[in-house]
Amino acid sequence: MSTPSLLILPGDGIGPEVMAEVRKIIDWMGANRGLAFEVSEDLVGGAAYDAHGTPLHDDTMAKAQEVDAVLLGAVGGPKYDALDFSVKPERGLLRLRKEMDLYANLRPAQCFDALADFSSLKKDVVAGLDIMIVRELTSGVYFGEPRGIHTEGNERVGINTQRYTESEIDRVARSAFELARKRDGKVCSMEKANVMESGILWREVVQEVRDKDYPDIELSHMYADAGAMQLTRWPKQFDVIVTDNLFGDLLSDLAAMLTGSLGMLPSASLGAPMENGRPKALYEPVHGSAPDIAGQGKANPIACILSFAMALRYSFDQGEEATRLEQAVEAVLADGLRTADLLGEEGATPVSTSEMGDAIVAKLAASA
Ligand code: NAD
Repeated sequence: MSTPSLLILPGDGIGPEVMAEVRKIIDWMGANRGLAFEVSEDLVGGAAYDAHGTPLHDDTMAKAQEVDAVLLGAVGGPKYDALDFSVKPERGLLRLRKEMDLYANLRPAQCFDALADFSSLKKDVVAGLDIMIVRELTSGVYFGEPRGIHTEGNERVGINTQRYTESEIDRVARSAFELARKRDGKVCSMEKANVMESGILWREVVQEVRDKDYPDIELSHMYADAGAMQLTRWPKQFDVIVTDNLFGDLLSDLAAMLTGSLGMLPSASLGAPMENGRPKALYEPVHGSAPDIAGQGKANPIACILSFAMALRYSFDQGEEATRLEQAVEAVLADGLRTADLLGEEGATPVSTSEMGDAIVAKLAASA
């Protein structure tokens, strides 16, 4: 099989700083675990605008379409605030998502024991939590027509339309079932089939896909409002949750915050399978470019490192290496090492961005 290819787009602000730590891990894995990647690096966001006058050059877009996975740092910053909307850094990221047709957004909520005190929930509710929310990203009420604000009689009416086709539901359900096969084999689908026709169709199609092609997966259905309650009551009952764009927007933020800091949260967006069977994929931390701390060695690289772990698991079929990397992160946190965003406990050892990366590589080396 050909060497797996990875396009790295560090972007702006803390993006290049956190990505430098991922590069250390990639280099270590290449030298010590026989895991070779064909890595290329390019510009996105403000950095691309500075070089080319556009937040994503056509050549970079073409490269993104060819590789097995794209890993992005973050884009944006005050320097670019006054730019025309069409060339703002965020447009580069939106173009990537749109042209790669990334319809399944994966947001894990994973709580490392050492950080359980950062959650607003009780420690035993979140310690060891590891769930995945799959949100449909390209359809639903944010895109449905008709939409707009118009006048009826003597008042204004605001309209948005929740609309899902069978094929849109089918493909995101498949993404969730494929993921579940690489995890604990359980999927819970959430909608509001009690009050919405689109919810009834959603439930039917997800069930049909499961019965036809994924009989090994344990599927349950839940109304999204009850799901929100269950997520805060006992989140560990879930493995993979699949839901639409609107409910997924809310539920993934809720689930993410069960686990604490923004500097810890990875994500992935997946599209249709390519010829080699791998899905089109973009991995990125949830956080932005954090201009307030950029260039100071304060950024937490773990969200970006865990995004790479997701790439290992979901794009490169290296689940064991992904687990090894997550365990290295867990071990470093258990030792009390903390970047500035995680400080607060007594006895913690403050470390810089690059010291955190070095410590994770050292743990990987110790576990080899
Ligand atoms: P942000 O996520 O960049 O920062 C919010 C707060 O969290 C800041 O105080 C920041 O210092 C802190 N923070 C974020 N990531 C951290 C990390 N890894 N380690 C430690 N602390 C961290 O959000 P913002 O301030 O609203 O936006 C800043 C810029 O980023 C804007 O230009 C915005 O448009 C852009 N943005 C980009 C993305 C993306 O690239 N996906 C996402 C959100 C915001």
